[in-house]
Amino acid sequence: MNPLRTLILAAADNATVKQVLATAPVSRAVVRRFVAGETTPDAVRATGELVGEGLAVTLDYLGEHTTDRALAEETVRSYLQLLDALHAAALSDRAEVSLKLSAVGQEFDEKLALDNASRVCAAAEQCGTTVTLDMEDHNTTESTLRVLAELRRTWPSVGVALQAYLRRTLDDCRELATAGSRVRLCKGAYAEPEAVAYFGRHEVDRNFVRCANVLLAGAGYPMFATHDPVLIRIIAERARWYDRRPGSFEYQMLYGVRPEEQRRLSLSGHTVRVYVPYGVQWYGYLMRRLAERPANMAFFLRAVAGRS
Ligand SMILES: Cc1cc2nc3c(=O)[nH]c(=O)nc-3n(C[C@H](O)[C@H](O)[C@H](O)COP(=O)(O)OP(=O)(O)OC[C@H]3O[C@@H](n4cnc5c(N)ncnc54)[C@H](O)[C@@H]3O)c2cc1C
Repeated sequence: MNPLRTLILAAADNATVKQVLATAPVSRAVVRRFVAGETTPDAVRATGELVGEGLAVTLDYLGEHTTDRALAEETVRSYLQLLDALHAAALSDRAEVSLKLSAVGQEFDEKLALDNASRVCAAAEQCGTTVTLDMEDHNTTESTLRVLAELRRTWPSVGVALQAYLRRTLDDCRELATAGSRVRLCKGAYAEPEAVAYFGRHEVDRNFVRCANVLLAGAGYPMFATHDPVLIRIIAERARWYDRRPGSFEYQMLYGVRPEEQRRLSLSGHTVRVYVPYGVQWYGYLMRRLAERPANMAFFLRAVAGRS
């Protein structure tokens, strides 16, 4: 991983840095670019706008590393409320939800996380949609894949994210490239040690392409979550090579990142799903987005220093 990115992710974990950035008034303006709002109506409104433009959506209620049953319960309730609201707004056929297991108890009780995720999956099914499990740092990969396997016994459409920067991911792709299996391939957003992750940008990109090949050649439904123009070009080529028609795989991008490219791909007939985060706990999410583009971070820090 880029050393500057590692540094930003480490600084983001520092309590003082967090206090300064999370409370600086200018943060709100930067947050608005990447986060759809704080409430369920905000999330539904953003979804309606994107769907109106022909895009599909996956919604993330922000929050992670919950160490408390009550907070995990609150997260589940927020998802249930969101799903009801999407259904009521006739949006649930174009919008699914993304779930971080650490937000529903994974860190202290995997069984609780499974039970909580099951409630979200059941509600999603009732609303005519589904769930994708986000992937977090490498200490959670094994547990997330275990929970995924359990959930898929009842809800085979549950998807999962895999991270191309992890050395294990090519094997995970081989394992999961089966009929009906929805797999989101992304580069990976956490600071990981070299023992488990590829470090250089090119190595990560090469592994992304290897994994994409496996997913496109397999029988599942690949979801390519990247803004990288080179990778998007390669995916398009490989999709033709594997005779994958639009609709048999999709592109995914983050809310606020390369919106013109989202629309271009959608207008050319592809399914493009926008990952829409919302909620009050935006800090960790925002820091990962800023770390992806140190130019964004420099702009943000200059603004904070100037105005707070
Ligand atoms: C839908 C979706 C779901 C994701 N889910 C997960 C997950 O579950 N687990 C996980 O670890 N990671 C997840 N990620 C994040 C992912 O791992 C990467 O960290 C992130 O997408 C940046 O990688 P990239 O492929 O876009 O390539 P990069 O090489 O980072 O970026 C390529 C180009 O895209 C543009 N770009 C990228 N990021 C930004 C930004 N923040 N601001 C402005 N421009 C930008 C720039 O033009 C950049 O040059 C997800 C990403 C997406 C799109």
